[in-house]
Amino acid sequence: MDAAHNAPEPRYWEKIRTVADTLRELEGPIIVVSHVDPDGDAIGSSLGLFRALQALDKNVTWIADPPRFLRFLVREEEYSDPIQQVPEGATLVVLDSAEPSRVAGAPVEGFVINIDHHGTNPRFGYLSVVDPSKAATAQIVKDLIDALGVTWTPEIATPVLTGLITDTGNFRFANTTPEVLHTAAELVGYGVRLAELTDRLQWRPVGYFKAMGAVLSTVGFHFEGLLVTAHMPTGINVEDSDDFVGIIRYAEGSQIAVFLREREEGVKISIRSRGGVSAQAVAVKLGGGGHVPAAGATLRGLTLEEAYPRVLAAVEEELRRAGYL
Ligand code: 5GP
Ligand code: MN
Repeated sequence: MDAAHNAPEPRYWEKIRTVADTLRELEGPIIVVSHVDPDGDAIGSSLGLFRALQALDKNVTWIADPPRFLRFLVREEEYSDPIQQVPEGATLVVLDSAEPSRVAGAPVEGFVINIDHHGTNPRFGYLSVVDPSKAATAQIVKDLIDALGVTWTPEIATPVLTGLITDTGNFRFANTTPEVLHTAAELVGYGVRLAELTDRLQWRPVGYFKAMGAVLSTVGFHFEGLLVTAHMPTGINVEDSDDFVGIIRYAEGSQIAVFLREREEGVKISIRSRGGVSAQAVAVKLGGGGHVPAAGATLRGLTLEEAYPRVLAAVEEELRRAGYL
């Protein structure tokens, strides 16, 4: 994959207006999708836009498979099953998806609108708003809903705020800009019950806590503690395993954290970094992508044992580039 393009989109507002005008005038069906393994931003931004388009009486379908920890946001009748083909004349709105191959539930074909904030996004689609300076795709969706002129309700504001909360690590990461905090304040003003929302977002199934013990027993330190790793031991299966990397990344002295998990297609890795080290650069070396401090990849066809040396080599190269080795 090409190097990432992490600069802000200079024609951001013009692009927001173009997409808003296009969506407002559409008469055909609109299909809203996001990425595989959807996170809070994928579900939040797509559900928020889906509800806003419903408020405009559009013929809109949301194709999603919300993970268990986000299902409380969603009503059963709101999400639909995957489709094999985009119907003639339909518009496909793709949210938070760093590349076409990451899109879940529909083939990327026909009239595609690509709304995202990953620097590694190749800016696919007929229309796109890709701005890596935005903390979350939900921020872009917030601006788009304003441009559509939809009246804000708690039902629309809650998923959009969820995207902002989850992608900024509860307003703690470096992407927590004044813009994020202003937007969050505005969304809370539209009637989001914030304490209830943040509490629910942390709920995990009982099995998660048992799995955490097993995961933490795999913790490994490499390059004198600059890299911390852990994996999901074989045979342990738990939904909502995504935040384990968010736990090990706080090992003192570490600049980069990698969590590995065996899947049918290979080994899925989640990478987090700080201090001038780029998780994105490591992910790109391994065929994935994402943001500078948070990225991921899937090492297809490999076992855990085969994946570890690849990860170590890619991280070593990046630690050298960043001047740590
Ligand atoms: P996570 O580790 O939470 O799955 O992903 C961190 C970030 O990297 C997310 O923004 C996600 O979209 C991106 N990402 C994760 N896996 C992949 C991948 O296989 N390919 C690409 N291009 N991006 C990924
Ligand atoms: Mn996102």
